[in-house]
Amino acid sequence: MSKIGRNNTCPCMSGGKYKNCCDKTGIWAHFQSQGWNYYDESFALQILYSSDAKFRNFYHKERQKISKPILFFSTNRLNSKMSYGNIDDDYYFIISTHPQIPVSESIHMAHELEHLVLCSEGYKLVSFKDQSLNSNSRKNKMLNDMIYDPILNNRLISFGYDLSAYLDESDRIQMRTIGTDAKDEESIFLVMTLYVKRVLDFRNIYSNILPEEIEFNKWVKYHYPEVIPKSMAILDVIYKFGLSNPTETEVSLKEILKLLNIEDQFELFIS
Ligand SMILES: [Zn+2]
Ligand SMILES: [Zn+2]
Repeated sequence: MSKIGRNNTCPCMSGGKYKNCCDKTGIWAHFQSQGWNYYDESFALQILYSSDAKFRNFYHKERQKISKPILFFSTNRLNSKMSYGNIDDDYYFIISTHPQIPVSESIHMAHELEHLVLCSEGYKLVSFKDQSLNSNSRKNKMLNDMIYDPILNNRLISFGYDLSAYLDESDRIQMRTIGTDAKDEESIFLVMTLYVKRVLDFRNIYSNILPEEIEFNKWVKYHYPEVIPKSMAILDVIYKFGLSNPTETEVSLKEILKLLNIEDQFELFIS
């Protein structure tokens, strides 16, 4: 399943044979060399689709909004459950640790797919201006998740997903992975973006809860008090410029880059 036969239909949905289509561009060889195994979408989502009514309903409504073919990959080298991205300008991809997504990861798959819906709707992603200089940094992903996770998580609520359990789980993982004394710049940046994300998420789920009452944010305040002022300043920008459509979101993101003095390192692009 993980190898594409040269005479098989190309996964890009062109209708042509793989050997006459994407095989020539070499992207598949590249991914296989990275330890990424390609799976057909129907195979990757088969368990979810057949055994999870919530996901099936979500998929029926949301899949058609995604404007490019999605390539599904799995790898055993991933530092989160799943991730998404784009390849050249032609494909989106979702990569996961499982070839076939189990029902226990339904919300994670819905989350990644909804990221691609947002991209298809014209929400721009932050990327490095010079990819080569920043190949080890994940700050672009941190910024994108800070802004887009709360927007799409809020949409998942309407499909019946339980966000509070999901967020509690991801908080526990983050606190464990970051630890209480990581003082390198990248970790500090991560904590700052997670703090902002958590406040925005909680505003969507429990509008009456105050940021300082959120368990994760109490943890940040105790172990990383230095990130609070910046996080608050970012939230002020978001409240001022909004996140309710692609245009507002672009303005907010640009202002955040300026606020953090990193506007020369990043650009916004349509994915
Ligand atoms: Zn192709
Ligand atoms: Zn996300």
